[in-house]
Amino acid sequence: MSTDIGMPPVLSPEEADKAVLLAAPRGYCAGVDRAVITVEKALDLYGAPVYVRKQIVHNKHVVADLESRGAIFVEELDEVPEGQTVVFSAHGVSPEVHRQAEERSLKTIDATCPLVTKVHHEAKRFAGEDYDILLIGHAGHEEVEGTAGEAPEHIQLVQGPADVAGIVVRDPQRVAWLSQTTLSVDETLETVAAIRERFPDLLDPPSDDICYATQNRQLAVKEIAQDSDLVIVVGSGNSSNSVRLVEVALEAGARSSYRVDDASEIDEAWLEGVRTVSVTSGASVPEELVRGVLAFLSERGYPDARAVHSAEESLIFALPPELRRDLKAAGRV
Ligand code: SF4
Repeated sequence: MSTDIGMPPVLSPEEADKAVLLAAPRGYCAGVDRAVITVEKALDLYGAPVYVRKQIVHNKHVVADLESRGAIFVEELDEVPEGQTVVFSAHGVSPEVHRQAEERSLKTIDATCPLVTKVHHEAKRFAGEDYDILLIGHAGHEEVEGTAGEAPEHIQLVQGPADVAGIVVRDPQRVAWLSQTTLSVDETLETVAAIRERFPDLLDPPSDDICYATQNRQLAVKEIAQDSDLVIVVGSGNSSNSVRLVEVALEAGARSSYRVDDASEIDEAWLEGVRTVSVTSGASVPEELVRGVLAFLSERGYPDARAVHSAEESLIFALPPELRRDLKAAGRV
């Protein structure tokens, strides 16, 4: 389904030959929105500084903006002075991090996305039933570290089909799989198929671990990629779902696709001979950065964007209960 969002009344011959397609949905998901608002409200309520363990969401502009308002981002909790307030990022933390926070008497606000928390619960349940758990995801990603930390003795990481031959389990009939929330849907299906070939009794998670936002953004970019000479994905390099969008666009038929943090990173050479440019953004990307890319294209003779809708989203998550409680006590709700 497509919607015009303001075509210019008269197009030059050059403009008439070109098109800009804008994927919808794109940008902020419910988990990112909640995490960013959590830090903003914590700053408002408790005053600066508010410490945040890891990047609250994987976007350098969001992090820089919150830093300018008084948030201090740290890698580990030993960088947070005792007794201070620390927010855990949307990607989630392991029980060990909660234990460290308690040990240092830190006031914690957990902004873990509820859809990541759901995967943690699945990991605990499978581990409680003594399954070997194959966690499909990327080594070193914070979400994977947090989920694996729920049951380290039961969980092993599988990064793709190439890892499947090397999996060692205690009982091939008691194997379950889970995944990171921001993977490529198609690649994950391939990995699961390879695992199932080795372990036919493989147990599936009760519902999709790849979240609705990741799935919808991939669906949206697929819909426009095949008609695109160039797909520009706005998102940071450490944003898993943004990086996946470039891969999905290329697999879906885009002639070229690049990820940029903002318009300043667009290389003019990418536009040579390009008629149709598509634009999308990862789940941690503020819309103003997309507007910057559209303005960049407009200045180079591309017409107004035409939005192509492939799914509607209306999910909103409540703020973390510990923050809601303090906001209520302060009469701020
Ligand atoms: S991308 Fe998905 S799992 Fe991650 S914060 Fe957004 S909704 Fe939650």
